[in-house]
Amino acid sequence: MTKNLIKMSSLILSQNKVLFLTKMFFSPSVSQRSSKAEFCLSPECIEAAGSILSKLDRTVNPCEDFYTFSCGGWLKENPIPEDSSSHGIYPWLRQHVDIKLKELLEAPSHAKELEAVTKAKILYRSCMNESKTILFSKIIIMLYSLRTQHNKNNLKTASLILFCLFRTIANYIQWRTVFSKITTLSRRFLYRYLDFARVISGTTSLTPRWDKCVNYVENSLVYATGRLFVDAHFQEDKKHMMEELIEGIRWAFIDMLEKENDWMDEQTKQRAVEKAHAVLAKVGYPEFILNDTYLSEDIKELEFNEKDYYGNVMQTLKMIAKSDVSWLRKSVPRTEWFTNPTTVNAFYSSSTNQIRFPAGELQKPFFWGKEYPRSLSYGAIGVIVGHELTHGFDNNGRKYDKNGNLDQWWSESSVTAFNEKTQCMIDQYNDYYWEEAGLNVRGKRTLAENIADNGGVREAFRAYRRWVDNSRGGVEEPLLPGVDLNNNQLFFLSYAHVRCNSYRPEAAREQIQSGAHSPPKYRVIGAMSNYEEFRKTFNCPQSSVMNRGAQSCRVW
Ligand SMILES: [Zn+2]
Repeated sequence: MTKNLIKMSSLILSQNKVLFLTKMFFSPSVSQRSSKAEFCLSPECIEAAGSILSKLDRTVNPCEDFYTFSCGGWLKENPIPEDSSSHGIYPWLRQHVDIKLKELLEAPSHAKELEAVTKAKILYRSCMNESKTILFSKIIIMLYSLRTQHNKNNLKTASLILFCLFRTIANYIQWRTVFSKITTLSRRFLYRYLDFARVISGTTSLTPRWDKCVNYVENSLVYATGRLFVDAHFQEDKKHMMEELIEGIRWAFIDMLEKENDWMDEQTKQRAVEKAHAVLAKVGYPEFILNDTYLSEDIKELEFNEKDYYGNVMQTLKMIAKSDVSWLRKSVPRTEWFTNPTTVNAFYSSSTNQIRFPAGELQKPFFWGKEYPRSLSYGAIGVIVGHELTHGFDNNGRKYDKNGNLDQWWSESSVTAFNEKTQCMIDQYNDYYWEEAGLNVRGKRTLAENIADNGGVREAFRAYRRWVDNSRGGVEEPLLPGVDLNNNQLFFLSYAHVRCNSYRPEAAREQIQSGAHSPPKYRVIGAMSNYEEFRKTFNCPQSSVMNRGAQSCRVW
């Protein structure tokens, strides 16, 4: 009896799915499939179609869980590697950049090579030479035994409390020193580290040596490796399309502020418009890395020895510390940027009012070239541009003026209204329970990122529709073959695909407790369910998870 009931209910469930799939993908009003629909059959469009189809899980209702609908296929096909605590599209792209850097750093040096690049290659080879890491290990053991002796010192009882404090600080500093170097040590140490990592992050194997060495060289000789990468893998025309996206999104932010914002007073609004106009965009790499003389001068004091890894590490640490200290008491350079070009990430800097998009971020599936549907780029890198721009107006960024100075440019009434608007988002995200972590999202902790996500999606969608109007006279882009989704649907899918990511429970808990971002699943569900254009695009009924209707939160 019970068995039959279960069978029956699962049958009904699967029928619902079939019914729903038919409605979503095969009704002409949604898929825009008419005799007029045009398909793009170029190799790029076929590639994009394949990339999208492989990530989907079509058994999930997009109006109930848009994240799993968009990412389920990819997550199933891409288990978390043994040496990682999480895996997703971002780490996947990071890995691809590492592989490219490996190839570049392993290529033999030649006579015409830049001096800085030759140094980077020597540093990489010294790191790969594992027999030389043993000496380094001995020094760390020495450092550790010094600490133990220090603990044994006898001091008078009167100074015991002070001593305890000093001891704690001294222990902590020494622990940080040892810990920061532990992954560069010999295998004996690496396996002890693995015992630690197993508990903290759930990883069960070590990162390959080459990958650690690539990351080490990349973070020590930032501009030399950046130049190497940019010369080989960055196409200059990406800058033009980024300009189109950035200007479109800036326009959308200002347009919504002027036409749809009913909670900010006119004067504050005017200042917000000025700040949006003043946001300076940086794309690809800092110009000075193309200057050969600068690159050599920048690291001229470094004399690497292929057989002295420890000595090389000490030299680079010293150089980085000196360079950090040299910024003390200097004014912030407002128009320059110093971001590593190989970084797979994007940034907003409140002290310079800059948005930054290094070359590493400007790749598929974030940045799609002009040969691909624009819906994909607007949905992915476009939303990222909007996200970074909106950081200038989140609960922290809003405190800085258009010149990057901490300055109260808001009226009291607008601050009060802003706090009310953001409280809605705090409550919304607080309510999300993340199964992987067994914990709820922390709405207040993640507020700035949630404001940026919600704003970014709105700005990029508005900019995309304007692009269709202005550049195509309102005619929709050709569809992708075999995908059965219209361009607006592709826009939202492309946004979700940026976020596909799975976590081990250890990493999920860590993300909730100390991460600035909401879990990827709720970065998608949270922002989409607040947005009326999303529910229109996917025909989501009022009762569905992805349609918050009157409960929707909106700041920008
Ligand atoms: Zn952010």
